[in-house]
Amino acid sequence: MKRLSIKLRLTVLYSFFMLLVTGAALTVLFSLGSREILASVQMKLEQRVQESVEEIRVRDGQVKPDSDFYSVTGDIYLSLYDESMYFLYGRIPHGFTGEPDISDGELRQIRDGNLEWYVYDMSFRMEDGRTVYVRGITSVTDAEESFNVTVRLALILFPALALATGFIGYRFTRRTLLPVKQITDTVQKIRADGDLSRRVGLDAGKEKTRDEIYGLAQTFDGLLGDLEEAFGREKQFTSDVSHELRTPVSVILAQCGACLADETMPEELRGQVLLIQRKAKEISEMISHLLFLSRADQGRQPLNREQVDVSGLTEMVVEEQQMLAEESGSGVKIECRIRKGITAYVDETFYIRMLINLISNAVYYSGEGSTVTVSLDSDGERITGTVADNGIGIAEEDLPHIWERFYRADTSRSGGSHSGLGLSMVKWIAEAHGGSIEAQSTLGAGSTFRFRLPVKGSDPGKEARGQKNEKNENL
Ligand code: ADP
Repeated sequence: MKRLSIKLRLTVLYSFFMLLVTGAALTVLFSLGSREILASVQMKLEQRVQESVEEIRVRDGQVKPDSDFYSVTGDIYLSLYDESMYFLYGRIPHGFTGEPDISDGELRQIRDGNLEWYVYDMSFRMEDGRTVYVRGITSVTDAEESFNVTVRLALILFPALALATGFIGYRFTRRTLLPVKQITDTVQKIRADGDLSRRVGLDAGKEKTRDEIYGLAQTFDGLLGDLEEAFGREKQFTSDVSHELRTPVSVILAQCGACLADETMPEELRGQVLLIQRKAKEISEMISHLLFLSRADQGRQPLNREQVDVSGLTEMVVEEQQMLAEESGSGVKIECRIRKGITAYVDETFYIRMLINLISNAVYYSGEGSTVTVSLDSDGERITGTVADNGIGIAEEDLPHIWERFYRADTSRSGGSHSGLGLSMVKWIAEAHGGSIEAQSTLGAGSTFRFRLPVKGSDPGKEARGQKNEKNENL
C-alpha cells in the first residue's frame, strides 16, 4: 500500500487528537451539566412545594390556597390533596395523565407516554390539625430541553469542527512543509539536468521563516555551492591538463613525421617510430575528446548551425569510413540507405564527428566481413539516422552506461583510441541540437544506434552569427 505523505499523516494525527480531546471534554461537560440540571430542577421543585405552605389557609373550616398557589413558576405545577388523597385544588400540567399515589417526601421520576415528570409530594399539618398533601409536578423534558438543544448543537458542530480542524491542519502542514517540497524539487531538477548552479533559495527576508527547515535548505545550498565549486575545479583541471598535453603531443607527432621523412632510417627503427606516431595520434584524439567534453561542461561549446545537405554529408562520411575500414583490413562493408536531398539545420563539424564515432564504433565492434548499415530519413520535422551492425553487441546491463565517460562495456576489445569518450560526445552533440539518441543491442547479435535531430533550429541567425568565431577558435 502506498504510504501516506507526511502532510496527510500529520493532519490525520492532530485532527484525531484534537477530536479526541474535544470529544472527551464535551462528554465530561455534558454529563456534569446534565447532572447539574437535574439536581437543580429537583431542588427547585422541593423548594417550591415547601414554600407553597404559606399559600394555603383554612378559611371557614375549609382548606383553601390563595391565588399564588395556582401560578406556575419555573414550570412547576402545584396541586392540593386532602387526607384521603382526594384532589382539592391546583393545576395539573397538560400531558400528565397518570394519578400516582401520594408518596410523602419522596422525589419520583415518572414516565407518561413520551414525557417524563418529576413528582414531589409533601404533607402539611394545618392549624386545625388536618393533614393535606401538596404535590409539585414539573416536566423533566422541559427542564432538559434547553440542555438537549445545546447537545444537538454540539453534535452538529462536532463534525464541522472535525472538518475545519482537518482543513486548517492540512493547510498549515502544507505551508510548513512547502520548503521541503522546494528542496525535493531542486534535487530532482539537478538529477534531471545535472545543473549544479541551482539553489533551493528559500526566502531569507522574513525573520519568522528562519526555522529548522530554512536551516536545512541553507545547508543544502551551501553543499550545492561546494559541489559546484569542486566540479568546476575538476573540469578546469581536465581542461588545463588537456591543453598542457596538446603541445608536447604535437611536438612528438612533428618529430615522428621528421624522423619518418629520413629515407635512410633502418626498417626496425622505422617500425618503432611508426608505433610511437600511432600512439601519439591516439593520445591526441583522446585530448581532443577531453577538450570537447570539458568545453561542453563549461558551456563553452557553441554550435555553428547552418542549412546543410545532410544526405550528401552522410554519404561522404560513409565513403571515408569505408576506405578506412578497407585500409585496416577488417573487411567490413558499409551499406548506405540514405534518402537523397535531406537538408537540416545542423553544425556540420559536429554532425560529422557524431557520424564518425558511430560508424567507426560499428566497424570496430563488428566481426570480420560483416556489414554495417547506415540509413537516413526525414519526416519534414526531424531527421532520423541509424547506424546498425551485426557485431558483438552490448550486454543489457551495460547498455544504460555506454553514454558515460570512460565507460567501456568490453574492456578486452577496447584499446587504442577507444577510451570510452566517443558516445558521451555523440550524446552531447545530439542533445545540443535539440535531438536525441538511443541504442538497442543484443549481445552477440549486433547494435543499432538511432539519432533524431530537428530539421529546423531554434534561432538560426543568432547561432550562426554569434558563435561561429568562438567555435572555430576552440576547435
Ligand atoms: P569507445 O571509444 O571505447 O568505443 P564509446 O564511448 O564510443 O567508447 O563507446 C562506449 C562503449 O560502448 C564501448 O567501449 C563499447 O563497449 C560499447 N559500444 C559502442 N558502440 C558499440 C557497437 N557498435 N557495438 C558494440 N559495442 C559498442
